[in-house]
Amino acid sequence: MNLHEYQAKAIFARMGVPVPDGAVARSPEEALAVAEKLGGALWVVKAQIHAGGRGKAGGVKLCHSPSEVRAAAKALIGTRLKTHQSGPEGLPVQAVLVEAGSAIAREFYLSLLVDRSRECLSFIASPEGGVEIETVAEEHPERLVTVPLPPATAGVPGYVARILAGRLGLTRDLFPAFEQLIAGLHASLLATDASLIEINPLILTESGSLVALDAKVSLDDNALFRHPDLAALEDSSQKNPAEEEAERAGLNYVALDGDIACMVNGAGLAMATMDLIQLKGGHPANFLDVGGDATAGRVTEAFHLFRSNPKVRAVLVNIFGGIVRCDLIAEGLITAMREAAPQVPVIVRLEGTRAEEGRRLLSQSGLPIESIAGLAEAAERAVEAAGGVS
Ligand code: GDP
Ligand code: MN
Repeated sequence: MNLHEYQAKAIFARMGVPVPDGAVARSPEEALAVAEKLGGALWVVKAQIHAGGRGKAGGVKLCHSPSEVRAAAKALIGTRLKTHQSGPEGLPVQAVLVEAGSAIAREFYLSLLVDRSRECLSFIASPEGGVEIETVAEEHPERLVTVPLPPATAGVPGYVARILAGRLGLTRDLFPAFEQLIAGLHASLLATDASLIEINPLILTESGSLVALDAKVSLDDNALFRHPDLAALEDSSQKNPAEEEAERAGLNYVALDGDIACMVNGAGLAMATMDLIQLKGGHPANFLDVGGDATAGRVTEAFHLFRSNPKVRAVLVNIFGGIVRCDLIAEGLITAMREAAPQVPVIVRLEGTRAEEGRRLLSQSGLPIESIAGLAEAAERAVEAAGGVS
């Protein structure tokens, strides 16, 4: 689960990571009120969406008067903002963060994340901030430094802060503030069970203070049960509607760009099925693991999802009956087809326990289901049914 920038900055503020003064606003009038209360001569109005790249996309507006703040909020709230991270449809802007503007002397990159390959937490820093970190990593990997944290120590050892400060080129006088900022970041990650905390950019202001100008926090979904207060911050408007519906139905679903809907039992088999579709020249519309207990209800939910995706041109069902029985799956499929039959060809491959009975039930049902015994053949047929190799 991702947090909005304003939510992440509230955590930072509690943990001693300096952030600009500001508040969230859900209407132009609220934005105006925040600006007037902040005072000063420069304000920033920032679209709150779960995607980066807002600056380039026009989602971050510098304003020189409260009435400009109101106008900027009016231009953003209620629209969809499309950035290089938001997907082609963009994400809805329902709120803006109004902040006191900062005078920037330098921009840095700083993050702390669960480093799976090193099996510890690692800081990543770069003296070049405010730019796409992926591009820096690709074109100038030498500009990034990764500093792993020894797992057994509490807090952040002094040498870690010194390496990072050195790489950022901070002067000696900034070190105490930087050390405190690093400690606050670390405490924020531990307190929230976050998997990633990213500040891009961390800035040095003209007046010589370090400030987190942007904030991204990704929480570990598997730890959310320990944080009901954080779980309550979830903004479902930022999520893919199909994925949300699937989550409610207890289905493991990831939306993709292709046109062949897949329903498979088991994550590994689902991945293999998607690979096979690609191999045969097609493109999967989704990843879907209906789980070991593919009940009629779950199968029906899956078919509802397929029907609501206008891109789908064929459905491929691939079930390996190990513990589950194929005849029960077939009954579930038949019920689901009667309730929510996709308007496209449905290809089914059943294998394993009671597969023959399952196939017989499908052929006796009179429903337009193409039952195919081999997985490769089934994938090939699905590609053909979806309009052939593209
Ligand atoms: P992102 O594009 O979604 O990552 O949004 P950011 O919060 O990183 O803002 C994008 C850019 O807007 C930053 O890199 C800054 O260059 C600029 N920006 C944001 N806030 C301020 C501010 O207070 N003052 C100035 N001068 N620039 C700002
Ligand atoms: Mn940013």
